[in-house]
Formats: sequence, C-alpha cells, structure tokens
Amino acid sequence: CGIVGYVGAQQAAPLLVEGLTRLEHRGYDSAGVAVLGSRLQVTKKAGRVRDLSEALPKRLAGKVGIGHTRWATHGPATDTNAHPHTDTSGTVAVVHNGIVDNAAALRARLVADGVELASDTDTEVFAHLVARSGADTLEGKVVEALGQVEGTYGLAVVHADFPDRVVVARHGSPLLIGVGEKEMFIASDLAAVVRHTTTVAHLDDGELATVTAGGFTTFRHDLTRTTTQASAVDIDP
Ligand code: GLU
Repeated sequence: CGIVGYVGAQQAAPLLVEGLTRLEHRGYDSAGVAVLGSRLQVTKKAGRVRDLSEALPKRLAGKVGIGHTRWATHGPATDTNAHPHTDTSGTVAVVHNGIVDNAAALRARLVADGVELASDTDTEVFAHLVARSGADTLEGKVVEALGQVEGTYGLAVVHADFPDRVVVARHGSPLLIGVGEKEMFIASDLAAVVRHTTTVAHLDDGELATVTAGGFTTFRHDLTRTTTQASAVDIDP
C-alpha cells in the first residue's frame, strides 16, 4: 500500500516512521521497516504505525532504510506477513506495493529448490529471487528477479552487501524519489516526502533507479540509462 525509503546522513528509522505516519490516511493493516547499518535489521507488526514504533529496538542505527504500510492481498494481516520481507539469510529486504500474479508458481519453485518460505505473501518471492541471483551488482540482481515476476509492483530493495544504496522499481504502482541535501527520500506518495523536499523525480513504468545519499540514476530492465530528472513540485500551502 505505502512505501518509504531513506538514504543519507541522518538515522533512517525515525524518518521512515514519520514517512509511514504520513501515509496512514491511505489505509493499511500492518507496517514495518528495514534499517541497514552495520547489519540489516527488520521490525514489522500487524496493526498501526504506532505499534511498529513501540516495537522498534532502542538502538536501531543505520542511515539507509525502507518502510511499508501493507494492505494485504496474499495472506492475512500478521506480523510475519507484514513487509519488509527478507531472504533466508537476512541479507536482502524488500517492500512491495501491488500483486505478483505468478506468486503460486514462483513460491512452488523456490520450495522445490529447498527454500523455506517464512510468509504467506506474494511479495516474499522477490527477496529470495534477489538473494539467489548470480548477478554481480544489486541492480543486476533486482532486474534478474523482476524478469521472473508477472504482475504489478512498486518495489524498494536493500542488500547488506551493497550498503550504500536502495534500488527501486516501478511497474503499475507509483514510486518517486525526493532529492534533499546529501540525502534522498523514496515514497509511493508525495505526502511522505514534502516535509523534507519538494524536488521530486517520478519513475515511469518499466523504470528502475539506484538511490544513494549523493543522488540517483534511473535505468531500464536492460540496465541502459534513462533520463528521468527531478523537478520542483508545486504544493498548495
Ligand atoms: N501483495 C502484497 C501483500 O499482500 C502487497 C500488498 C500492498 O500493496 O500493500 O503483502
């Protein structure tokens, strides 16, 4: 339902929670965050953003992170089914808006390969597919995973082996990047970023982006660059 992300010089967790609070009006049944510091830490809860906030570890250090408010389509609203979803080793975390149409087939194939699935969701397959990709870069891994997925997505991915970035993708579900001063914000909805910046780039369908503290680059599924730029948005006071 709602996606937020942060890469920059500040601690990510409070900014992610604040962004999720600004998406609450869209409705949701669960919320969660993944914060990437010296390791990847995921906290997620069925219920309100306030419940998530109370469940966060006191020391949750990391300047890269992603967050989600879930409106369940595949599997009930439980802590386990809340996003972010991770691979078995806890190296990759993914938040996802939309529906994976071939989730049943992908889940069956992963299980046949010996993967133990943790949740009932369609989204979890992304985390395993990214983790199992043999590509050298996070961008390559995400593209390879998306190549196996049919359906709609706004997606944000973090990976412990690529700790300086969030990779995002859009197909049928909105996603934008807010450009700050040596910090970048990611969201599915302008409401989550306008307190921080009104310089915004909207991804097109079929487009991905690498987001680091210093900026972002956009590209297609064949990894060729696109020219999407950030521009000033008009906000009614
Ligand atoms: N299909 C996903 C799920 O059920 C994402 C739902 C959403 O957009 O929040 O977890």
